[in-house]
Parts: sequence; C-alpha cells; structure tokens
Amino acid sequence: MAKKDYYEVLGVSRNSTVGEIKQSYRKLALKYHPDRNQGNPEAEEKFKEASEAYSVLGNDEKRNIYDNYGFDGLNMGGRGFSTSSFFSDSIFSDFGDILGDLFGFGNFSSTRKNERYRTRKGSDIGIEVDLTLEEAYKGIEKTVTAHREKNCDVCNGTGAEPGTSPDVCMQCGGTGNIRRSQGFFSISTTCSMCNGSGKIISHPCKKCKGNGRMEDIKDIKVIFPPGVDNGNRLRITGEGEEGFDGGRPGDLYIIINVKEDDKFKREGNNLIYELNINFSQAALGDEVKIKTFYGTEKIKVPSETQNEKIVKIKGKGFKNINSWGKGDLLVIIKVVTPTNISRREKEIYKELREIENKKSKNFSTESKNIFN
Ligand SMILES: [Zn+2]
Ligand SMILES: [Zn+2]
Repeated sequence: MAKKDYYEVLGVSRNSTVGEIKQSYRKLALKYHPDRNQGNPEAEEKFKEASEAYSVLGNDEKRNIYDNYGFDGLNMGGRGFSTSSFFSDSIFSDFGDILGDLFGFGNFSSTRKNERYRTRKGSDIGIEVDLTLEEAYKGIEKTVTAHREKNCDVCNGTGAEPGTSPDVCMQCGGTGNIRRSQGFFSISTTCSMCNGSGKIISHPCKKCKGNGRMEDIKDIKVIFPPGVDNGNRLRITGEGEEGFDGGRPGDLYIIINVKEDDKFKREGNNLIYELNINFSQAALGDEVKIKTFYGTEKIKVPSETQNEKIVKIKGKGFKNINSWGKGDLLVIIKVVTPTNISRREKEIYKELREIENKKSKNFSTESKNIFN
C-alpha cells in the first residue's frame, strides 16, 4: 500500500511551523488514542499513522530529509534512519512527551511536571521571504521584520497592574489543570476558571489589559547561504515569541520562496540555460558569450551541432547546501529556423537544397512517394 504523505496525515501545510505540527498531532492523537477507541482497528491505524508522521515532521533534521528526499531518504541505512529503529523508539518518546501530561503516562518526575506548568516556551513564528534565482545562487544577507509577541513591559508579563499581583486560581490550585481518574488513566483537562494559567488577575494591567503580552517588532539579519532552494526553511533559534514566565523563546522559521528567472532555470543543483542558435552556427560551429550569475561564460558550439545538444560547464551550478560539491551549468542548444528571410538568403537556401537533395537522394525520393 502506498504510504500517505506525512503532511497530509497531519492535515498541515508544508510550510507549517513546529508549533502547528505539534498542535495538529496532539489533536489527532487525542482523538484516535487506543484507550479512547477500544476495539476500533481503524482508529488504531490512524493513531499509528499520525504518530509516525509526527516523529518525522516534529524533528527538524528528519523533516528536512523527508522534504528533500521523501520516504526513501528516511529509509536510507547509512544515515541512521532505518525505519525499524527510529520509528518504534521515537513514537513512544514523542508520544510520552506530548501526551504524558494528559494521560498521566510516562515516568515524569514531579519536578518536571511542575516546571512544565511554571514556564512555557514561546511560540515559533514563520516568515516567507522571496529570493530571486540569482540571490539563491550566490547567497545573500537580508533583513526581515519579525512581528511577534513579548511580555508586557509594564507588568513584566504577569498581566497584573504594577503593585498588585495575580492570585492563585482556587479551582486548580495554580496548576492550570484539573485531573480526573478514568479507568486506568488519569485524564487532565485545562482549568476553565483560569484557562490554564493557574492565576486569576483581579487588577489587570492597563497597558496589556491583563493578558501580559504586547507586540514586538524586530529587524533581524538573515544570511541565506548560496544554493538555497524553493521551500527550504532556515531556523533562527530563539527569535520567535518570548516565553511565558521565564520559559524559552520560540524559534523563527524563514521559509524561502525562489522566484522564477526569465533566462535561467534550476533542476536539482544544475543551472539550466537555453541557447538559441541559427542554422549556420549549428552547421559551422561558433563561440557564444552568455551572461551568467557569476559573469560572462564562453559557450563553444561545435560544428554540426544537433538541436537540443547539451553543453556542460562543470561546477558552475548551485552549491549543494546539504553537503559539499556543486551542480553544473547545462546549456541546452536550440537550433532555431530563421524567419523573415531575405531574397539573398532564399537564393542561398535554394542552392543548399540542391546540394542536400543530391546528398540524400534515396531519402528524398522515398518521402516524395509517401507524400504525393
Ligand atoms: Zn501588562
Ligand atoms: Zn485554574
């Protein structure tokens, strides 16, 4: 059976942030969790599918391999991604990580549990950046403007007017969660009174209206290395939204969108150029100069060149960003039939036709028989 695309399984787009992927997985995992769907093999299958997808898309390195090489990349032995080892191990470690607190799974020590509620990581953010093909070829530094959230500078993120402090939520005792026992599991739900914050603010900060956050706009320099491709993502650690209550900040993802060029194309790491030549250049050969991203290149057109012949200039393609090496410049030669031919040209072509007819007598008589 063909494997379903991991993004499709999780119902997220290819540009989704880690936060979005995690959220979507969490939803599916809760819906299809075997303990909630006993004796339902379809749900079990969906649960496994979602967990496998998350074990890849939730991990930057594996996601990158999947984006670039698909399932085959993940199955490649040499890189240490054989399915048998990593899926079986990490489904359950990821699972424990995400759902442990919800189902009371895993061996979480109580200190770790408390840390989880005390601090919270800021969200990841994504910014799409357009590059020209030339910029992707050479690499470039650009400044992007990140619009993100940070803690309110008046109340320091507490949400309480300076001089006052938030009260501990009475309903959940400050944990933000209400736990209930259900069968073997203890199910935890977000406290409805404090919405999971564990705090009740009776005197909200005037600047942020009690939510503790404000907008933060920052210009960030981003270095795009030579060879980046459409759809590549660069992660800038710690430039996402500020964490809550001292939690780590999220990350900034730069999603690269390479615009089409009217002269050059990219295929893998090769740079492709179509060179139009006329009949006489094709027959006699020529040397043609073309303007490339790195300067002028002389293309040698050999005599008796056929249409679509490819001339390869080694090592002048895109730099391979995942390892060493470079692609090539491939010049595809197109022999173009002349238009608007003059009387003089016609005379020469007629003369040429006579010579060519004599050269290929057999062919021309045969073709006359067919078409007449
Ligand atoms: Zn405030
Ligand atoms: Zn509460």
